[in-house]
Amino acid sequence: MCPFCSTHLETINHLFLHCKLSWSLWQRLVSWWGAEWVVPGDITVWYYNWPFLSPSITNRSTWLLLGLSLLWTIWLARNNLVFTNVEPNHVQLFDVSLVRAFWWIKSLQPEFPYSAGCSFLAADALHSWRGVLRKFT
Ligand SMILES: [Zn+2]
Repeated sequence: MCPFCSTHLETINHLFLHCKLSWSLWQRLVSWWGAEWVVPGDITVWYYNWPFLSPSITNRSTWLLLGLSLLWTIWLARNNLVFTNVEPNHVQLFDVSLVRAFWWIKSLQPEFPYSAGCSFLAADALHSWRGVLRKFT
């Protein structure tokens, strides 16, 4: 059973996309970035389509890192619940995911002009920042 909701089987698609907790985190991230989406039925569909959901074509790699950070955050929250019985906190998980993404971006591009503390304010600025895109292309 899914450790978050205890109502569905724990499949990769349910855990990372469709569980109420995960779905709400995705919705919050998409809204924060200013994008729109429909939750895909399969994680592979997510992988191939996620970079193109960003309204800003100049910074799809940053958008990809934000999504990968959220996946990693969901996985760690799942493990914290299963192995240490720590209940996930939706607000904290979202914040941690943003901070983690900012640290990843900073590690890839030291000239990235934002600190992790800016992660809650800088979505608009990230749309026009091209540094990570240069690194990946
Ligand atoms: Zn669930």
